[in-house]
Parts: sequence; structure tokens; C-alpha cells
Amino acid sequence: MNTESRKIILIGNGCVGSSYAFAITLLGIGKELGIIDTNKKKTIGDAIDLSDAVSYSSQKKIYSADYQDCSDAQIVVISAGLPQKEGQTRLELLNSNLNLIKEIVENVMLTGFNGIFLVATNPVDILTKAVYKYSGLPKNQVIGSGTVLDTARLRKELSQDLGVDARNIHAYIMGEHGDSEFAVFSQALIGPIKLREWLTDMNPNFDVDFYFNKTEIKVRNTAYDIINLKGSTYYGIARSLAKITKAILDDDNSIMTVSTLLEGEYEENDIYIGVPAVVNKYGVVKVIDMELDEIEKKKFKTSAKIIKDRLKSCNLQD
Ligand code: NAD
Repeated sequence: MNTESRKIILIGNGCVGSSYAFAITLLGIGKELGIIDTNKKKTIGDAIDLSDAVSYSSQKKIYSADYQDCSDAQIVVISAGLPQKEGQTRLELLNSNLNLIKEIVENVMLTGFNGIFLVATNPVDILTKAVYKYSGLPKNQVIGSGTVLDTARLRKELSQDLGVDARNIHAYIMGEHGDSEFAVFSQALIGPIKLREWLTDMNPNFDVDFYFNKTEIKVRNTAYDIINLKGSTYYGIARSLAKITKAILDDDNSIMTVSTLLEGEYEENDIYIGVPAVVNKYGVVKVIDMELDEIEKKKFKTSAKIIKDRLKSCNLQD
């Protein structure tokens, strides 16, 4: 397995892909970035434009790439495919994006690629399982962006409401990156204090359950709100993908709610779904099987069932 080259290949240079390319350029992540897209001309233009940002940020070689450039890449990021339109769910993108993912993965694997696939294209949990199946790579080497973005959204909401730095908030959104995702409030910590305790300490009469419900709905609907306002979402996911990329390249052992294959954790098998997991240069090295309360367990089951049904419908589940 390639764990050292620090070379990233991005496939899909649209709103998400180009925002990710800009983010990793500014953050100094990786040593080399190759960009692939069916719109070759734009990849050439973007490579030149991004290279102009390199002198003031990081040393990196950035270029328009072809599939053969994947052979020694440490990470291939997939953000090619149709985005959601107004009123459309992520699951409705499945048919159009599945064939495209198959073709991309076959092209990458023909080069002898043996690094990590990081998938962002929606519906991300289903398509990450497709990448796992089509690539034949071990499960640790195939990762979806899962609910990393949704977790960032939850922490932002809590941070704004409580006046605490989002980086001191340990709270997770789990499940499908979609309408059945849910917040694990029972385990949420503000610094060392349980979130529920923090809220009732502030005001003993505070309606905590109402607040939890309202916040979960707000987080879940954020993507729809952004799409209604500007057509698509890309900066948040770009930053989340950059964080996952850094965890891999810098061997950070970071805990993030990526989409990963379950083998018994949370009493589920053979599905990719967003759960907290440890990520380092080998990819996902440990799934964290955290305790959920009874309601959260039910929400997880519902979310897992939605994914399983979709996987079955496209022959990706036995
Ligand atoms: P976009 O339309 O702006 O870009 C898609 C790009 O893919 C285009 O540049 C297109 O030319 C390219 N493309 C299409 N077929 C290709 C192929 N076979 N090979 C190479 N490139 C190809 O869309 P976007 O807004 O960048 O969204 C991309 C995907 O990311 C969508 O599926 C969207 O739903 C998803 N997304 C995921 C998250 C997340 O949290 N996982 C968040 C936002 C968007």
C-alpha cells in the first residue's frame, strides 16, 4: 500500500472538487495535486490558476492529470458526478452517478493504484460501497466523507448557541449522509461536561429535548437551505475533505465520522455508513462503537435500513 507519496489525484473538478483543490493548496496539504475531469480544458486552467496561489501558501506541484497519474497516488478523491438540484434528495442521484463511479474506479485500478479512495459524490454511503466493491481494495483503503460535514455543522450550531469554541465540542452526527442522519446528543461533550448538563446548569428550566430536536432538524436541513439560496454546497464539504486528506497524509489518527464498512459494529454488517472512526495513513484503522441511547439506536437502524435497501436495489448488497 502506498503510504508515503503525498500525491493526491482529484477526479471531478466541479464546485466541490475545485473548492477542495483551493482548500488543500491554502492549507499546504500534500506535495502534488493532479486534477482529472471530463472538462480537460478547465483542469488545465485551474491548475495554472491554483499554481499562482502556491508561492504564498505551500510548495506543491499542481497539474491537469490523466488516469495513468493515479498509479503512485496516495489518495484519489472522487467528487465527479451530478449534484442535488433544488428539492432533490441525495438518494435520487444514485442512478446517474453509479455508472460514472464504476467507470472511474475501473480506470484508476487499471493503473495499479494502491492508495486510499476518498469519496464525496452523492449518495456518498452507497457510492463508497460501490467503490469498495469495484476496486477490490481492503475496506480500510476506501473511505466516504460520510457525516464529517454534518458533524461540522452540528458543532457550529452548538458553538454559536453556547459561546464555546467548536473545536472544544465533541458531538457527532451519525448515519446516512442524508435525510435519516441523526445527532448523538447522549454522548455530546462540551469540554469535559455532558451537553445536557451544560444546558441545565445554564438554566434548570431549559427544554433540552426541544432544543436537541430543533438543532438536529436545522443541521439536517442545512444542505437544502444552501441549495435553495445558491444552487449547491461546496465550501463546507471541501474543508471536510481537506481534513480527512490531512489525517491520512500526516498519519494523524484523527477521529471523524467518515463513511466506513461495518462488520458487526452497531449490530450492522456490510454497509458503508457514517460512524466515528480513527483515520491515519492506512485509512480507517478503527471504528468506534460508541454507546447510543435507545432512541439513537432506533435512528441508526432506520438509517442503516435505508442504505441497505438502496444497496440491494443496485445489486451492491448480498
Ligand atoms: P459539479 O456539477 O459542479 O461538478 C461535477 C464535476 O464532475 C464536473 O466538473 C464534471 O465535468 C465532472 N465529471 C462528470 N463526469 C465525470 C467523469 N466521468 N470523470 C471525471 N469528471 C467527471 O458538482 P459538485 O457541486 O461539484 O458536486 C459533485 C458531487 O459532490 C455531487 O454528487 C454532490 O452531490 C456531491 N456533494 C457531496 C457532499 C458531501 O458531503 N459528501 C457535499 C456537497 C456535494
